[in-house]
Order: sequence, then C-alpha cells, then structure tokens
Amino acid sequence: MRDHHRFRMADGAELVGRQGDSFETRVSIPSDDNGFFGRQCPERSLVFRMDVQQYEALPDSLALWCVYCGHHAEYSEFMTEQQRDRIMHAAGDFAMQMVSQELDKMFGGLARSSRGGSISFSYRSQPFYPHPLPGIDEEQLVRVRTCAGCQNNYAVFGEHRHCPMCGQLPAASVAFDALQADTARLDALEALPTDAKALLREQGVFTRNWVDTVENVVGVVEALASSLFRAAVPNAASLLNGKGAIFQCLDHMADLIVTAGFLDLRTALGPQTWQRLLETWAARHVFPP
Ligand SMILES: [Zn+2]
Ligand SMILES: [Zn+2]
Repeated sequence: MRDHHRFRMADGAELVGRQGDSFETRVSIPSDDNGFFGRQCPERSLVFRMDVQQYEALPDSLALWCVYCGHHAEYSEFMTEQQRDRIMHAAGDFAMQMVSQELDKMFGGLARSSRGGSISFSYRSQPFYPHPLPGIDEEQLVRVRTCAGCQNNYAVFGEHRHCPMCGQLPAASVAFDALQADTARLDALEALPTDAKALLREQGVFTRNWVDTVENVVGVVEALASSLFRAAVPNAASLLNGKGAIFQCLDHMADLIVTAGFLDLRTALGPQTWQRLLETWAARHVFPP
C-alpha cells in the first residue's frame, strides 16, 4: 500500500515505508563544511563530531563510545539537540497530516449523512504545506583526530580517552591528545589581540593558565607512566604497594623504573632536560590551586 504519497514532507524528510500502523520516516542530517556532523553523549551531554561519509559506511547496528566518558550505547542515542529538533519537526509535520486525514474521513462522512437533516455542519480540509525543517548550526571542528586502530576521523572539543568506534584508546594516544588539548588552549590565548592579552594578563588569566598547564602536564605524565609501568612490569602491583602517587614525583618515578630493571630516565634524558623537568614540576607548588 503506497499511501505514503498522500503526505507532504519538507525538503530533507521523506516517508520511506510503512509497516502496519507505523510509518518509517527518513530525515536527513546535514553535515558541516568539513563533512562532519555532531554526536552528543546521552550521559553527560558533551558533544563530539564524526566524518559523515565514514559514518554512513558503518554497519546499521552500530554502537558508539562517547569519546570523553566512554559511555557505550546504540548510535541513535547520540543525537544532538539540534538534530532532535529537526527530527521532531518532521515528525510533527507527519502527525499533523495524519490527524487531518483522519478528520477528513470522519467529518467527510458525517457532513454527508447529515445533509438535509436538522444538524448543520461544515468541515473543510486545508491542504498542508510543510515549513522548511530547522537547519543545523553547531559548533564547528576544533581538533580532528584519526584513530590509529580503525582510521576513522572524529573531532573533539577537549581531552578525550575513547575512539567512538573502538572504545578505550591506548595510554600513549590519551597522553598525546591531552598535550594537544593543552597546546590548543595556549595557542588560542596566544592568538588574542595584544590589548585583550594585556587585560587578561592583568586579571591573572595567564598565570592561572600557566599553572593549569603545568598541573595538566604532570597529570598526563603520571597517568602515562603508571599505565606503561603496569603493562611492562609483571610485579608492578607489589612494587607500587604503599607508594601512593609515586608517578607525580620525577625522582621517585625514576628510582622506581630503575628498581624494575629499566634505564635510568635521568641518564637517558640528560642532566639539562632532567633539570628543566624538575623545575617545571616544582613550579606547580609556587602557585597553590
Ligand atoms: Zn560521555
Ligand atoms: Zn577507532
């Protein structure tokens, strides 16, 4: 039964079929100039973007990982607010016409049967002209990443730990990404006009950012070192027992790595680099958070 031709839908929405009482509607989701479209984590509402061409080539039964928190769910749960609005608009257009066609059937008959009787009734159906669907105007790409595992491109707006397709990323990728996120933040500050920078400097924004960056770098190294150590050293658990946050302190970390039978970082990196690292690590205690 091809009765779905009775419905008028806006550009970008079409009825593709019917099964019993339910109609299947397809609503296009326009991508941005770079060919990416938004995905929003149902858990914490954070947004990332995916390459629409690669996405369309993926299997229908796809489940995605949130790149930030690792929430894993069916792809349809990752709709952004604007995408949802667009789909609801198309669904509303469809529902309006369903209702008005039902009314036509009911009142069309009623009007005929009451002709000449004591009940005077008139009902006239109006043709339906759908308004255009709301467009999508979402925050554009910030950092595009290509997953080393699946080669898919996606874009993130902050530090992330998961590929939307493969899940948990290797510790080195997470560390590299976190450093890139910090670099991007510093570059954005650097790109500001001179007078804006002067104002921010006066307000302590640069100092604050510098402290945050050092904190972040220490955290990145701590997480990476801890993860690599646990992966490489069979008796890591017993060596780390009772040691607390040992990977936050450079000299303790270097000693630990020597104990486990690996190179001494101090010699491997050279005294000058090691000294700079020590100074950087110490600097975070100058400005308490
Ligand atoms: Zn999430
Ligand atoms: Zn991947």
